[in-house]
Parts: sequence; structure tokens; C-alpha cells
Amino acid sequence: MRDGVAVLTESTTEVVVAGAGPTGLMLAYELALAGVETLVLEKLPQRTKQAKGGGIQPRTAELLESRGLLEPLLQRAAPRDPVGGHFAALPVPLDCTPWRTRHPFPIAIPQWEVEEVLEERAITAGARVLLGTAVSGVEPDGDGVVVTADGPQVRARFLVACDGGHSTVRKLLGLPFPGRSGTHQAVLADIRLSAVSSLVPRQLGHMSTLTRHAGGYWAMLAPLGGDLYRFTFGRTDQADTDRDTPVTSEEIAAALQAVYGHGTTLGAVDNSSRFSDATRQLEHYRAGRVLFAGDAAHIHPPLGGQGLNLGIQDAFNLGWKLAATVQGRAPSGLLDSYHAERHPAGAQVLHHTSAQRVLADPNPSEDVAALRDIFTDLLRLPHTNRHLAGLTSGLSLSYELPGEHPLTGQRMPDAVLVTEAGPTRLSTLFGSGHAVLLDLAGTVPADLRLPPRVDLVRAACTDDLGAAVLLIRPDGYVCWAADTSAACGDALLAAIAGNLAKP
Ligand SMILES: Cc1cc2nc3c(=O)[nH]c(=O)nc-3n(C[C@H](O)[C@H](O)[C@H](O)COP(=O)(O)OP(=O)(O)OC[C@H]3O[C@@H](n4cnc5c(N)ncnc54)[C@H](O)[C@@H]3O)c2cc1C
Repeated sequence: MRDGVAVLTESTTEVVVAGAGPTGLMLAYELALAGVETLVLEKLPQRTKQAKGGGIQPRTAELLESRGLLEPLLQRAAPRDPVGGHFAALPVPLDCTPWRTRHPFPIAIPQWEVEEVLEERAITAGARVLLGTAVSGVEPDGDGVVVTADGPQVRARFLVACDGGHSTVRKLLGLPFPGRSGTHQAVLADIRLSAVSSLVPRQLGHMSTLTRHAGGYWAMLAPLGGDLYRFTFGRTDQADTDRDTPVTSEEIAAALQAVYGHGTTLGAVDNSSRFSDATRQLEHYRAGRVLFAGDAAHIHPPLGGQGLNLGIQDAFNLGWKLAATVQGRAPSGLLDSYHAERHPAGAQVLHHTSAQRVLADPNPSEDVAALRDIFTDLLRLPHTNRHLAGLTSGLSLSYELPGEHPLTGQRMPDAVLVTEAGPTRLSTLFGSGHAVLLDLAGTVPADLRLPPRVDLVRAACTDDLGAAVLLIRPDGYVCWAADTSAACGDALLAAIAGNLAKP
């Protein structure tokens, strides 16, 4: 994010995105890629370089790769052992390999680095990002919304609130955010250590190797390279501190020494903040001309590295649907399918982070300790491990879409294909953000009239993909499939008209 405050000069735009966190920037990229006039308004005058969300989950990695966005992120990722994710920091790694993915391990990268890459790409694609410009007023009407940003106003066809857990837009519209308040407060700090005891983890291994309970604290210390560490801690006695009380270096130093001994010395604090384990979700992700995505729509305890991933996946689901709506190409109901698909996906994450919250209780009772033992044993069973790996990685997510073929609504693994141009991967076909009609039988009629932004790709594949012809949405989920190309007449056209573009 470039420093400095820009001035809102536009009086109209197609979409305003409130908030330049990972969700807002991902959405801005998707909209700009589709040619939608997109204005991002961000409250902060410059990015806070805080690690915060520290990882990219396998499904997010697949999606980013499909837009060519993974490579620049991998170049910035922290070196990490190839080790699976975790459930409630239990000591058995989650194994994503049964889900047929090229990215079975979470990628360690500080959130601000993800934001930097996404912002650069969104701007290159044509989005405008204004810093130091907080949304302070929202007036929706039948065909648009007037957004006030610290004085000046801009009229947009749609506003998407990606302005985080304390969403101003949500509050301005008076929308309830039902759920549970947090019971534990914790501190997240990016710190420099000038001396380390043998208790300090030396490498970024499995989460269970980074966590420790001692001296009345629970803590997680993740080495990010050199003397930089991401330190998360809280008191096991649940002593509550007001979320707005500033974090002090004395407080951080005391926790460090209590957990990692006197041989561990705090050098500097780069930044710090407090967070809680509150769980809340909006009832509807759409309120007329205003949509909600990311933390503005759902919050949950930061267990298992979910929030940033959920937000990026919201943006992937919403981007192409909103673009089609703004450009008059969308079939009826397409924009509302965003809520229908992503609300359950969010609810599922709230559900399993609630379970993790119990298992990872900072001050576990005997019962919780017993539960942890049982769960640890269960994680050693391949079937259970696969189930939880699928949930936390996002790889098992599918959508309930109309259609009889078993692949309908499923994600496609990134298969090797051979097209006219030579060998390639399925993921490379989605760089432009178009839908793909993948003809593996080579018999889809060449004169089939496809709408714009649906590409016909004929290819051979040595893997069995489970169908001869697949219609895959821009976000990588199958919306129609057939075992023979004989079925590719009216049924295919109806699937395109129902899922992607009106005739
Ligand atoms: C301790 C901790 C650890 C975490 N670890 C992980 C992890 O490992 N993996 C993971 O996936 N997630 C993790 N998360 C969660 C993750 O950080 C969030 O889910 C993520 O930041 C959500 O992104 P967002 O873009 O929706 O919202 P945010 O990142 O909150 O971005 C919202 C943006 O909107 C701006 N804004 C606010 N109000 C206004 C306004 N009125 N006008 C304009 N702009 C406004 C804000 O300044 C901000 O830039 C963690 C969170 C915490 C607290």
C-alpha cells in the first residue's frame, strides 16, 4: 500500500469496495480483471505491517494459482518445513494429500505481504485504491448506493463491505451481527528477540511445536526469519483486559520470560494488538445494493488459520458474479447465490473453530485434557484426519448446485492436460477469470455458440477427471458435467444460461 492520502475525485463508479484488507483487495482484483470500474476506499493512510493472518491454506493457494497470483506470494513466503496444518494445535499434522492437491501444506506468509501483492495486482488490473479515506456514510436506494467518505460522496451501482470485523458499513446500516462475545482476550505481537533460550522454537514446524503453556500463560511463538517472531499469548486465568487498552512492551516481556525463561530477551516490538475469540455471522450477506465479505460478514476464533482464507474465498465467489451483474450478463439469481453458497461455508468454519476453541482451552480442565487425548488418537485414523484436513484446508468444500452429475458443485483438482498448445495444467486456463468449457472427448460442436467469458478448451487428460465434458465456473467449481459429449446440446446451453450468463 503506497503511503499518503489520496483524494476522492470520482462522483460515480460501478463498485465501491470498503476496506483494503485481503478480502477487499482480492475482490478488487477480480472485479478489475472483469473490466468493472472499481474504487477501493481504505481508512488507514498506510498499511500496518503486522503478521496477523499468517498463512494461506491449500484451497486458497489453488485459487490464487488459478489467477497467477500464487508465485509472487511464494517468493515472499517464510521458509517452512513441509508440514500439514493443525486442528486445535493437536500434535498430529493434517494430511491433505488424499484431497489431490498440488499444495498440501499451508504456506507461511504474513498477511501484509499478501495484501501488498494483491493491491499491486488489483491496481495493475485497473482498480483504484484510495488510502486514508474512511467510509462514513451509506445511502442505498433502488439502483445504487451513495457512499460518503469523510466528506466527499461517490455514487456506485454496488458497495461491498470488506471493512473487517468492526465493519462501519454494517453498523451504518444497523444490521445485527448475531453470535457470541469472546471469553478470552489475547495479544498478537510481531517482536524481535535479542536472546533466545532453548525453549524458543528454531524453525516454523507444525503448530503443536510452536505452542507452550507455562507460568500462567499460553503462548505461540513462530519464527519468521532472523530475529523476527510472531508472538501470540494470553493468560490462562482468563484475566480480562479491555480490548482497547494499549499493549505494553512490559506486558510482552513478562509473558515471554514466564513462558520461555530468563534466557529469552525482548529486543523490540514492531507492532501489537489485542484480539478475542468472539464468534459472529451476519444473517444475510446481501442487503439490497450492499454486500458483505470477509470479517465484515463473519468472525471466529483465529484457530487453524481460517479468516484470511475464508475472506479470499468469499471474494473469489462474489467477484465474477458481481461483475456479471454490473455488466448486465448475469442470469437471474446469480448475485443472490453468493449468500446461498458462502453463508453455509462461513457457518461451517464458525462451527469447527467453536469445536477447536473447546479443545484448545487455555486452561484445560481434566475433561478437556481427556477430550484432547481422544481427538489426538482419532487424528491418527486416516479417515478422520482426511475429514478434518478437508475442512480446515477448504479442499472438501462443495456447493449445492442444480444438476445430476456427481461432479456438480465440486472443485476440480489441478490436472495435467494436453491442449493444442501443448502440455499445461487445468489451473492455467483460469488466468483471465473466465469460465471454461473443458472438452476432454474432443466432440463438443465447434459451432456451439458460447457467451463472452466462457472459453471452450479441448484437451486430453491422462487422469480420470470423472466426466467427458465439464463446465467450470471462474472460481473453479464445476457447474455442469456430462459423461459423453452427446449430452452437450440443449442441456449444456441451459446450464450456461442458468449458471453463468443469460442468453
Ligand atoms: C491473532 C490472529 C491470527 C490470525 N491468524 C490467521 C491465519 O493464520 N490465517 C488466516 O486465514 N487468518 C488468520 N487471522 C484472521 C485474519 O487476520 C482475518 O480474518 C483477515 O484479516 C480478514 O480480512 P478482511 O480483509 O476481511 O478484514 P481486515 O483484514 O480486517 O481488513 C479490513 C480493512 O478495512 C479497513 N476499514 C475499516 N473500517 C473502514 C472504513 N470505515 N472505511 C474504509 N476502510 C475501513 C481496515 O483498515 C482494514 O484495512 C488471524 C487473526 C488474528 C487476530
